[in-house]
Amino acid sequence: MAVEIKTPDQIAKMREAGLVVAAIHAATREAAVPGATTKDLDDVARKVLAEHGAKSNFLGYGGFPATICTSVNEVVVHGIPSAETVLKDGDIISIDAGAIVDGWHGDAAFTAFVGGGHAPELVELSRVTEESMWAGIAAVKNGNRLVDVSRAIETYIRRQPRPATGKYGIIEDYGGHGIGSEMHMDPHLLNYVSRKRGRGPKLVPGFCIAIEPMVSLGTPRTHVLEDDWTVLTDDLTWSSHWEHSVALTEDGPLVLTAVDGGKAKLAELGVTAAPDPLG
Ligand code: MG
Repeated sequence: MAVEIKTPDQIAKMREAGLVVAAIHAATREAAVPGATTKDLDDVARKVLAEHGAKSNFLGYGGFPATICTSVNEVVVHGIPSAETVLKDGDIISIDAGAIVDGWHGDAAFTAFVGGGHAPELVELSRVTEESMWAGIAAVKNGNRLVDVSRAIETYIRRQPRPATGKYGIIEDYGGHGIGSEMHMDPHLLNYVSRKRGRGPKLVPGFCIAIEPMVSLGTPRTHVLEDDWTVLTDDLTWSSHWEHSVALTEDGPLVLTAVDGGKAKLAELGVTAAPDPLG
């Protein structure tokens, strides 16, 4: 269970991969309109990877058949792109994408609104999920422990006004993960504090982690469809998923999969992002 610690050169490679992921996000966000199929979005992602000479870390992972995960409405994560899944006005979709550059991985996700007219509680669900991710990122500090990241995510969510449906469900079966020479590495990052787990490893320069809260408008519990991938909430309430890959450096956190390295958002939270190694 050793945690892989990266050199500054390796973090620079991960930054390259992260920027490819950011480019996939921009292109798929634009393509997620009513009438598009989730297969269309997968095609867009594959094209961006090819344009950058990057490889997919999702395609073939455990037999996964596509380049991105497209999770619509009550699907939490791992939705498989399909020509039969047509996006409709009012849907929400979480798009999870990754890239490999020279053997180094990036991984990030976002929730998008298809068309318009979304209920305020859906807008709030996505906002709360995204902001909880940023609270977690802001806790990636030298000297902190992994549990401090989990606590920051959970605390943020629990301090928000409750949705009309009752309570936000912080998904328990999935969480964040170490990332680097592989997409999924130790340590596993819970999006809540578990007394059973202890405090986790100390965060030191070279530590890299994908932070990815998943939140529903109801239950924290999920099940998997017969395709062995698609994860749904047990009560079929809709859910949101946001994710960034983050590197801790001597100069603080660098958000590898954010175009600006996390600079603007972290500044709002009183944290200085590390300088971009690619300039
Ligand atoms: Mg991930």
